[in-house]
Formats: sequence, structure tokens, C-alpha cells
Amino acid sequence: RAPQLPPCEHKPKAYTGPSFDETLAARKEFLSPGLFLYYKQPLMVVEGHMQYVYDQTGRRYLDAFGGIVTVSAGHCHPHVTKAAVDQLNTIAHTTTIYLNNQITEYAKLLASKMPGNLKCVYFVNSGSEANDLAILMARLYTGNYDLIALRNCYHGGVASAMGLTAHSTWKFNVPHSFGVHHAMTPDPYRGVWGRDDRDAGRKYAADIKDLILNGTPGKVAGFFAESIQGVGGVVIFPDGYLKEAYRIVREHGGVCIADEVQAGFGRTGTHYWGFETQGVIPDIVTMAKSIGNGAPLAAVVTTPEIAKTLAQRIHFNTFGGNPVSCAIGKAVLEVIDREKRQQHCLEMGKILLAGFHKLHAKHKVIGDVRGMGLMVALEFVKDRATKEPNKDACVQVFERCRELGALVGKGGLHGNIIRITPPMCVTKADLEFLLEVLDIALSEV
Ligand code: PMP
Repeated sequence: RAPQLPPCEHKPKAYTGPSFDETLAARKEFLSPGLFLYYKQPLMVVEGHMQYVYDQTGRRYLDAFGGIVTVSAGHCHPHVTKAAVDQLNTIAHTTTIYLNNQITEYAKLLASKMPGNLKCVYFVNSGSEANDLAILMARLYTGNYDLIALRNCYHGGVASAMGLTAHSTWKFNVPHSFGVHHAMTPDPYRGVWGRDDRDAGRKYAADIKDLILNGTPGKVAGFFAESIQGVGGVVIFPDGYLKEAYRIVREHGGVCIADEVQAGFGRTGTHYWGFETQGVIPDIVTMAKSIGNGAPLAAVVTTPEIAKTLAQRIHFNTFGGNPVSCAIGKAVLEVIDREKRQQHCLEMGKILLAGFHKLHAKHKVIGDVRGMGLMVALEFVKDRATKEPNKDACVQVFERCRELGALVGKGGLHGNIIRITPPMCVTKADLEFLLEVLDIALSEV
């Protein structure tokens, strides 16, 4: 018997738009071939409700990838939708050349979530834009040029962020990466120092000093790190890594930038921000994805001192701080608080990880299990001793999960990692369904 999704009262609307074949043909003809589709037989998604999405036939799926770690509150969450509709009916666009209450109310609320003196917000539209702006701020503030990022990282697709990104799969053969140097990935599974080494964090961080002394003028503008590497396959740094990395970077004149695009907003369960799991306070924080529950919204939050450097010239972003996006962003923060989503992520994460450890004990193809809260991963290998990546097994499980009704994510440089990052409203029954689906898919490998 195939596993059954938990019951759901929502009835999707009858889909009356263009057919699957028409949609696929139009996509091929009119959209860039640079866009990629998941699944051998692509999936068409026409409706969403909280942790579920529906295809054109009305079939329901568990969205265990959360629209690529983006749907935080839940698809079409009523509070978020109401905020958007109300604002659309009031005024949809002003730009920052006029005062508007939405942007200031939201900035105030977002700043209240930040530690230290991180209270000055610049809104943009995507994670790539946020990181691009953070690069500019770091260089202006420090007067330095060189940047340190980590191997296996992903920071976006615009030229500057592509430069920070360290996966060959995402880097085009054009000039980029000016001044960017990539330090060793502090990866406790694949790296040289493993989970049994209690000093691993400090050892990995020492590579940053070596890189600064060898590859830069001895001074840097900044250091970028995702608080947990997402696209790279949910890589969680060893304890103490960021603390030592930040110390070294600041000693060499740089500011520290945390990319919270995936790990932020309570997803880790234990903390609201991913960097807090490492006990550090960054100088600049970039955020996107979960911030808008699917709306094009992103932000750079920094200290007033660093923010001030942008005032030496005009800096403008037409849609940054759009009142509809801000109304949505504010509603998302309210949902995370009111519905106690951080605590829920912690509880659901425990269930998921416990289930993953059982799968690891049963299926040899799983080399590693890791995660925090609702950001977890399974890494597939051909052999547990050599850790040779097993992409084929990963693809097979990924495809089978979809057939059985669960949408999961892929990741890792070698495409051998399954990522689970569902909307934060996912329930225990959903996770039990997902674990059953994964167990079946794994048994068939
Ligand atoms: N940073 C991280 C950690 C990301 O995962 C992503 C997107 N996958 C980005 C930045 C870029 O965000 P966007 O696609 O909104 O430009």
C-alpha cells in the first residue's frame, strides 16, 4: 500500500488553464533554456495551501522543499495573503523617495529581531541583490577590496554573487570573482577534520588567516558565509568555526557578513538566526527567501556606522521596500511569532532527524545525515568508507518520492544530497508520511 498523505480540508479549484503539454511547449519556446526543470517528467504546480501544492489534475503533494527553502509561513497563508491584498487595494508602489508607513513599520519590526547594533535595514528584491549590496558596503566601509568566501557556498546568480559562489556548476566562463578568495569548507563530513575532532572549528578557520596572508594584501573588505550552507547540501560548521573566523577577519580589517537567506527566521529551531547557532554577531546580515514566504523581498541589515557609507553617493532600488512586499514581510514575522514557528521547527526537526538516523541505520547508500530544525539532508554514497558520491541513487530516490507524493530538494556539488526544508507549518503526520516515502524509495535503490 502506498503511503497516504495526512487528510486536508482544502479543496483545490478546478484547474481550467492551458494544458500541461501547452504549458511545457510554451515554456520551451518562450522562456530561457538556461532555466532548469526538476524531474524527468516535469511537475506542473498550479495551487498551494500551507505545506501542500497541487498539480493541474488536483493531485496533492507534500512540499518538503518549501519552494526552495522559501515558503516559511505556508503557501497562501491567510494572514500573509490578507496583508498583501489589503495593501494592493491601498497603494502598491511608492518607492523610497516618499515616506510610507509600511516600510518603516516593517523595518522597525525586523530590526527588533536582530542582536547587537544591527538595526539599519536596506530592502531589495532577491538574495543576489542583497549580497551584491553587502559587498559594496563592506568595501566602502573598510576601504579594502579583497573578499573571503567559502568553497561549496552559494550566494546568488548576479555577477558579483556568482563570484562569491564556489560551485563550478553555477559559475559561467566570464570575468567575475574579482578580489574573491575561497577558503576551505568547514565540512565535518567530507573535510579533513571530522566530527570527532573537537578542535575542528579552529583548525578550519586557520585556513582563512593563511589565505589572507598569502592571497591578499594582508587586509580584506569582508568575509561571507552562509550560516548553514544550503545549496551545498546543508553543511553545518563545527562549533567555534565562525567565532574564530570572525576574529581573524576583523583582525585583518574586514567585516563579517552572514548570509541568512536559507538558515534564518527560526528554521534552525534553536535560534532565530543561523549565525546565533555559532555564537557570533555579524556586521552585515543578508536575508531573502523565507523573509517573504514567496514574495520578491530581501534585505541587508547592518549597523548605522556601516550603513552610513552608502550615503556618500545616491543609491536607489526601484522596488526595494515596495509597500506590498513590506506588508507581506511584516505579516510573515507576525505569523512566525504568533504560531511559535521557531519552537515548532525545533520539535519537527527532532522527529525528522530521528527518522533520518533510522534510515541511515537501515540503508547503506546513506553516507551522512545532518541538519538543524527544518533544514536537514541525506547524503548518498557508493561506499561509506570512501564516501564516493552516489548521484544516481540520489536521483532515483528524488524521482520516486515525487511519484509517492513528496517533493524534496537536491543539493551538493555532486548532486548526491537530498534536502528537506518544508514550510514551517509542516506537521508530525506529514513528516511520518515523508519518512515512509523515503524508506520505500531507499528500499528500491
Ligand atoms: N544566498 C543563498 C544562501 C541562497 O541559497 C540563495 C538562493 N538559492 C541566494 C543567496 C540567492 O538568492 P536569490 O535567488 O533570491 O537571488
